[in-house]
Amino acid sequence: MRSLTSPRQLKDLLARHGFNFSKSLGQNFLVDQNILNKIIEGARINKDDLVLEVGPGAGTLTRALASQAKKVAAVEIDKRLIPILDETLKDFDNVDLIQADILKLDIQGLVDDVFDGQSFKLVANLPYYITTPIIMRFLEEGLPFKSIVVMVQKEVAERMMASKGTKDYGSLTVAVQYYTQPRLITRVPASVFIPPPKVDSIVLALDKRDKPPVEVKDQAAFFALVKAVFSQRRKTLLNTIHASGICDLEKDKLRLLLEGLGIDPSRRGETLSIEDMAKIANALF
Ligand code: SAM
Repeated sequence: MRSLTSPRQLKDLLARHGFNFSKSLGQNFLVDQNILNKIIEGARINKDDLVLEVGPGAGTLTRALASQAKKVAAVEIDKRLIPILDETLKDFDNVDLIQADILKLDIQGLVDDVFDGQSFKLVANLPYYITTPIIMRFLEEGLPFKSIVVMVQKEVAERMMASKGTKDYGSLTVAVQYYTQPRLITRVPASVFIPPPKVDSIVLALDKRDKPPVEVKDQAAFFALVKAVFSQRRKTLLNTIHASGICDLEKDKLRLLLEGLGIDPSRRGETLSIEDMAKIANALF
């Protein structure tokens, strides 16, 4: 097999295996060598890297990763793709293929088994229907990743990179920017996939921070506040925090506490920076 980014060769391969795309599994396969190169360059893969790929599909990205990295573990949910992957990956002895649902898999267990517990890079052209839960798992479960390089729907990428006060700014922004530094790698038109999705995409690198940009006393409490702040975007900060039940301070005391921190209680929560949210969480809990 010469190139899986050739639409004709990919279609022939899939037809030979009697494979039909599943819309509900977010199957849009990449057929553009230039974008593939940009993903590999953006992920800065070298011969020492251990790479976890989610959703290898027919193996296009997997092959490119395996030729640059020390080892690749690829997790694919769709059983029908396993014989196809066995064929496309047969020349590589550094790929472990795991048939599983990434949302249910014990990822730390996999890292221990396949990577001897060492840190890894996540690289994936993600299925769009579960982009956010996948990324949140990696961020919140303390998995030892160095960076996450993912193709995601344009709108989701914009939420991850958003600045405070914009419509895209929300709890995903705060979680992503608390743990990582986003870096835009390239914009991707829908036409580079078979079949083309309804949305455009962006390849984004999320480089793990050595430590969070703000000091937070209680991480769970901080994220509870973040969730509360964005759940009622139109209300004032004072009303949102009071109504959320995350603390049992009376409204007047809460007002004084916010004013004492130099934060206007009548502001909308979405105008708060990550620093402001950390300040409030540290004072509240
Ligand atoms: N990597 C391939 C490419 O770039 O051409 C395919 C990408 S396609 C957008 C997403 C892939 O994720 C599909 O192969 C799909 O079957 C797989 N997938 C969907 N849901 C999954 C899940 N919960 N766990 C693991 N893989 C999943």
